[in-house]
Amino acid sequence: MFIEPFNTHKTGWIEVVCGSMFSGKTEELIRRLKRAQIANMRVEIFKPAVDTRYDEHDVVSHDASRIRSTPVSASQNILLLADEVEVVGIDEAQFFDEGIVEVAETLARSGVRVIIAGLDMDFSGKPFGPMPQILATADYITKLHAICVRCGNIANFSYRKTDQTQKVMLGETESYEPRCRSCFYEGQQA
Ligand code: ZN
Repeated sequence: MFIEPFNTHKTGWIEVVCGSMFSGKTEELIRRLKRAQIANMRVEIFKPAVDTRYDEHDVVSHDASRIRSTPVSASQNILLLADEVEVVGIDEAQFFDEGIVEVAETLARSGVRVIIAGLDMDFSGKPFGPMPQILATADYITKLHAICVRCGNIANFSYRKTDQTQKVMLGETESYEPRCRSCFYEGQQA
C-alpha cells in the first residue's frame, strides 16, 4: 500500500503505478488524483494523444471511473501546460517519447507531485518505451498485478490473443488478456 510522504517543506517527487493490463493502474491513478482534488490541490492530467480509446479528453479506466485529461502529442508540451500546478498525473506513459523522463524530473524538482501510470511490459514481455527509465528515476513505485485468466495465478503479462505484431494496438479488451509467467510463455510457444 502506497502512503504519501509527509510534506514538511515544498518538495516534489515522482510516483509510478505500473503493471500489466487489467491490473487496475488507471483506477489507482484516478484514486490518487481525486483525493488531491478533494484537498483543493491544483491537478492536471495528461495522456499521449495516441491513446484514443473511449474518450478524447477523459482518462477512463475499465470500471468507468473518469477524470478530465489533456491529450498531448509530445512530452515537452506537458511542461508548457503544467504551469502553477501542484499535482501532475500522466496516464499510458509507455506511449510517450523518451523526453517524458526529463519532464517528470523537471516537474518534481520544481515542487510538483508527479504520478505516472503505465504498462511496464509490452505484449512480447519486453520493457515498454520509456518505462524502464521512468522506473529507475522514480521515488516510489507500485507494481500492480492482474489475475491470470487461464490458471488464476498472479499475472504480470499482457498476452495478445491476435497475430498483429505492431507495438501500439488500441481496443484492448478484445485483443489482450492477463496471464502469469508460465501461461504467457506457453502461449508464446504455441
Ligand atoms: Zn497462468
